[in-house]
Amino acid sequence: MSENAIKRVVIAGGGTAGWMTAAALSKFCGRSGVDITLVESEAIGTVGVGEATIPPIGKFNDHLGINEDDFVRETQATYKLGIEFVDWGGLGERYFHPFGTYGFDLEGIEFHHFWTRQKQAGEDHSLDAYSLNALAGYGGKFMRPEKDHGPVLNKLAYAFHFDAGLYAAFLRRLSEKQGVSRIEGLIGDVEQNSESGLIEALALQDGQRIEGDLFIDCTGFRGMMIEGVYEAGYQDWSQWLPVNRAVAVACRRDGDPEPYTRSTARDAGWQWRIPLQHRTGNGHVYCDKFKGSEAAECELLESLEGEALTSPNHLRFTTGRRNQFWSGNCIAIGLSSGFLEPLESTSIHLIQSGISKLISLFPSQSEAPVERAEYNRLMSDDFDHIRDFLILHYKATARDDSEFWNYVRTMDIPDSLERKMDLLRSHGRFFKYDAELFDLTSWLAVAAGQGWGPEGYNPMADALSDGDVKGSLANMRGVLQKTVTAMPAHQAFIDRYSKAEPVSWERKKT
Ligand SMILES: Cc1cc2nc3c(=O)[nH]c(=O)nc-3n(C[C@H](O)[C@H](O)[C@H](O)COP(=O)(O)OP(=O)(O)OC[C@H]3O[C@@H](n4cnc5c(N)ncnc54)[C@H](O)[C@@H]3O)c2cc1C
Repeated sequence: MSENAIKRVVIAGGGTAGWMTAAALSKFCGRSGVDITLVESEAIGTVGVGEATIPPIGKFNDHLGINEDDFVRETQATYKLGIEFVDWGGLGERYFHPFGTYGFDLEGIEFHHFWTRQKQAGEDHSLDAYSLNALAGYGGKFMRPEKDHGPVLNKLAYAFHFDAGLYAAFLRRLSEKQGVSRIEGLIGDVEQNSESGLIEALALQDGQRIEGDLFIDCTGFRGMMIEGVYEAGYQDWSQWLPVNRAVAVACRRDGDPEPYTRSTARDAGWQWRIPLQHRTGNGHVYCDKFKGSEAAECELLESLEGEALTSPNHLRFTTGRRNQFWSGNCIAIGLSSGFLEPLESTSIHLIQSGISKLISLFPSQSEAPVERAEYNRLMSDDFDHIRDFLILHYKATARDDSEFWNYVRTMDIPDSLERKMDLLRSHGRFFKYDAELFDLTSWLAVAAGQGWGPEGYNPMADALSDGDVKGSLANMRGVLQKTVTAMPAHQAFIDRYSKAEPVSWERKKT
């Protein structure tokens, strides 16, 4: 190890971002003699939301050596097969955005071209009929695919809904076991070297001084170091993603938990419903130009499916991202790096993405301009690609029943999205750029689900006869339905492998 090597990493913040970073760094860098310290303040607390995830989280947990059943049990988690969108394309309409893929390609041509062709010929099977995830989701079924389950069940892709506070606590236990030191205290000041500008220490209000070589800013929206010290700047994306407020409340769960998130469009935003083992998480995300906080809270409380278990938690945010994610010797991970609103549950994924890039680019000393530039480039791409996919949900709508929907339906969109939408709408063509997160299934689910496209298909799909296409599609539907029929109920699967302890809410409510 060189004399200037990174020996001390200091993580500021103990929310989901802080503890995910601590768990991963202690697993991968701890053995190479790097000390990891995490500072958090109970007086400030965490954002307290963020409970729906996407499939890559499974890999993150695997890499940390976490047993999935233990994790599900200890975080009161349920399984998630996708998101049901209600009232997005138009009032009274619904569709499922599944994880996994649709159907099977035929003769090397993507499945959806045949689906569009059959639709034009008058067949009215929705895309859901070709998605194992959608069929299982609506059927309330779940089964973990194992290696010997064959190619059909192995198409099932899944993520989790979990209690954010319990997940952070779970990762804290793991991190501390892996050698992370936790310090409780309020960071009052950040000390910089007067010549290099590098951060040298965090000064806590109780007088402690935490020195480090590399600092990870997980302080949430405030971005205490990335903005407070380095003034990295923020790209405000409100003109495309105008929601800027949320109110969240947990309620008693009635019936078995569905293995999917529900997103219901409202007149000035949308509402989430996330079923966990011990409760249901609900939140109304809206734009304050079109709706006041009292009205949003009333609408949320009136729509709850069970007794409210917590007081409404109001949050404000500005959609966008930092201009720089890594500046000096500080890397922003989590809400300090930006926030794209929770529509497709991408924030925890962006934390994971930041951590894995940091591990790949882990610097050999505090000043690392080459690694820093690459990290900033890769994270900018991650955010920009996700941004475009989120905007698609608002732009590809026929809703004209409120000022909010009129605004988003007619707003100008980024050129990168315009190009993608044109290609998809005209003949169902889709290309994934760089390491873009959302693939054809996702874009197609939203476009077709909101009645916006594709209007045509790749003419190569005409190479097969009508009879062959019809027969193949009927066969796919049959195979997928048969597989779902044989799967256990979601609740039965949880009961068997990872049932959590019941929670007494009377005690918790206070
Ligand atoms: C309305 C809403 C819904 C969301 N839903 C989802 C979702 O479904 N799925 C998803 O993936 N993501 C979601 N997110 C995002 C998700 O909540 C965050 O990505 C995640 O919780 C990480 O937050 P964080 O750790 O960056 O910040 P925080 O949770 O805010 O943690 C900040 C930490 O910094 C510490 N801190 C701050 N200042 C100081 C100081 N001066 N001294 C000491 N400590 C300090 C705090 O004590 C705290 O520990 C949602 C976000 C919002 C706003």
